[in-house]
Amino acid sequence: MRIRSVWQRACGLTRTVVEGVDFDDDAEAVVVWVRPAARARGRCGRCGRRSPRFDRGEGRRRWRALDLGSTKVFLEAEAPRVRCREHGPTVAQVPWARHGAGHTRDFDDQAAWLAVHVSKTAVVELLRIAWRTVGAIVARVSADIDASVDRFEGLARVGIDEISYKRGHRYLTVVVDHDTGRLVWAAPGRDDATLHRFFDALGAERAAQITHVSADMADWIARVVAQRAPNAIRCADPFHVVAWVTEALDVERRRVWNEASGRRRTNATTGRHEMATGQARTIKRARYALWKNPDNLTPRQHQQLDWIAKTDPRLWRAYLLKEALRYVFAVKGKQGKIALDRWISWARRSRLPAFVRLQRRIVKHRAAIHAALDSGLSNGLIESTNTKIRLLTRIAFGFHGPEPLIALAMLALGGHTPHLPGRH
Ligand SMILES: [Zn+2]
Repeated sequence: MRIRSVWQRACGLTRTVVEGVDFDDDAEAVVVWVRPAARARGRCGRCGRRSPRFDRGEGRRRWRALDLGSTKVFLEAEAPRVRCREHGPTVAQVPWARHGAGHTRDFDDQAAWLAVHVSKTAVVELLRIAWRTVGAIVARVSADIDASVDRFEGLARVGIDEISYKRGHRYLTVVVDHDTGRLVWAAPGRDDATLHRFFDALGAERAAQITHVSADMADWIARVVAQRAPNAIRCADPFHVVAWVTEALDVERRRVWNEASGRRRTNATTGRHEMATGQARTIKRARYALWKNPDNLTPRQHQQLDWIAKTDPRLWRAYLLKEALRYVFAVKGKQGKIALDRWISWARRSRLPAFVRLQRRIVKHRAAIHAALDSGLSNGLIESTNTKIRLLTRIAFGFHGPEPLIALAMLALGGHTPHLPGRH
């Protein structure tokens, strides 16, 4: 085999001619001189249409390729511009890299694959690139997948949720397919305009195929869904309803804690309260016992609940109300609806203001909660997608803007992952 063909194979190049190889001492890297094969030449970098040459562009340039062993490799080539009928003067397409990329297609694919599968530190140290660069790569690879797959195919039952991705009230709106478990769409923002963009992308015909939409009870979601998905039944996400009741319980817990800590001594010199004592401390520690599902309680947390049952009937009542509402969603169906009615009348008479308010809110959304009890849509799905995206938001910290985060989420949770170079 001729040496140039060996290099062509070693670098996984197709439709590419190797002109020569050199070692760049300054860059401590192998540099492979290449040019597109005749049939791959003279095409617009954006649309691939054959176009006449325009000029030299910015001359020769380099693309980082996959390492050979521990040695960095760059491809080097001319980067002339062509004049596309649609895009005007544009840098010509090259077979080895995506348009506008500083890395080869194989390098991009491997970086994206790693970003989905291993830790941030592992990606950065293994590939010797900045995390921000990984963000740009992930965005390119995801855009490529978006162009080649139909994420909305067969979409019938969807979950819509909002997820905070950054402090300072930055939110993403995400759409999940309940039947495949895949994330199908995400965009920054949480308002009517954001959700309208999803339905614009979906198109009216497919929006009409949507049978169920589960969501928290935000008015903006209800408004847009009613307008754009006329055949969809709107279901409450049990996950969010249970979160409401946990908040109401917490109002009660804080009340008890404040009452107890009001009896604390104040340090004369610092003016600050001394460490919570006695009852206040116990209530503070019982926080997790109150929140947890009873099945998962530790023996110690059981004791904490027993203590609350004996010493604070009011907080205990709040706790039982929380558990009773969880029970509604555990039994579902007709039994769930009966249990919900009982819960509503109990909460109304509970003399716990937070629960009286919650009861009104639940009555207001009773139809959507009933729909959830009937549909049996997996609540765990939205919750687990939510948890995974939250995890990704931490990983995506350091990316530039929300787009790389969305791209990473689509790659990790969208069901279409990048393939490793050379393995199809
Ligand atoms: Zn073009």
